[in-house]
Amino acid sequence: MFITELKSLPTEDICLQFGLANHSFKYLCDCGFASQLTVADCRDTNAIFVSHTHIDHFINFNGIVRHQLAIGRRVIVTGTVGVAKNVQAQLLSFNWNLLKYDDQAVSYEIREIDEAGKINRFLIETPKWELQDLGELPSAYIYENELFKVRCALLDHGIKTVAYLFETQEKVSMQMENCPHKAGRWINELKTAFLTQDWGKEIVIDANTTRKVSELTPFIQREPTYKMAYVMDFAATEANREKIVELCADVDELFMECYYSSEDMEMAVKNKHSYASFSAQTAKLARAKRVIPVHFSRRYHEEAQKQLILNEFFAHFGENQP
Ligand SMILES: [Zn+2]
Ligand SMILES: [Zn+2]
Repeated sequence: MFITELKSLPTEDICLQFGLANHSFKYLCDCGFASQLTVADCRDTNAIFVSHTHIDHFINFNGIVRHQLAIGRRVIVTGTVGVAKNVQAQLLSFNWNLLKYDDQAVSYEIREIDEAGKINRFLIETPKWELQDLGELPSAYIYENELFKVRCALLDHGIKTVAYLFETQEKVSMQMENCPHKAGRWINELKTAFLTQDWGKEIVIDANTTRKVSELTPFIQREPTYKMAYVMDFAATEANREKIVELCADVDELFMECYYSSEDMEMAVKNKHSYASFSAQTAKLARAKRVIPVHFSRRYHEEAQKQLILNEFFAHFGENQP
């Protein structure tokens, strides 16, 4: 599962960090001003998933860069069409005459998803920060590593915003109690073949025993994956709702914008945001197991006002507040 931590206080912008057990890198969703984000957090960040570049979601990108300059790695930044130029513009707002390129320098690979689902990549390196076209990413996942993969949907918020679904990679375990063979190195080979559906592959169990993957499948069990979603600024429309429900179906953990109370629905419509009851009903339709409503308008600066929005959200979601 993912270990999630909000790095922004409820009165601040939005910035969510997540990681996984026994994995040294961290990941960020959006980079609004967030007072809980540490220097070490910035250094350990391996990818930044940007919903959109309104100032409250992107102002601290430079704050993160400040601590990444000498990490000697390529960091992935994802977002909608135009995010590469936004990244470049932030970097070009400084003078870099003392910075040279070397193998300790950071570089950024920016991935933009368009409405057709095409993902274009750009590389940007110190000290000139020119956008170099890396071509299309031939994958349905905007990001994938050995531990998790990321799907997304584009929502309407006046501009496009990216909603992200993070899902752990599929894992299998062996049911050795019913298996007539002794455990050994062959198990890893079998698991890999199973996950790539290589049913005909011959697995050498010992000097006298060889079995096809298809013969060994009764001893393998799929483990459930863990799904976490991050769904920020979106207009309260049926079209957005449909996309969110599809992307977030049966999600384990859902971070969702709850910018306005239903009382201020008019303002929500005007500013193409959601409101508490709409977000809650959408999360319910998606059968989300746990929802964390976040990103409240600054007009609700008092704790009691935020509490009212949360009460409203959970009254419509149909469960007690965690
Ligand atoms: Zn916005
Ligand atoms: Zn926002």
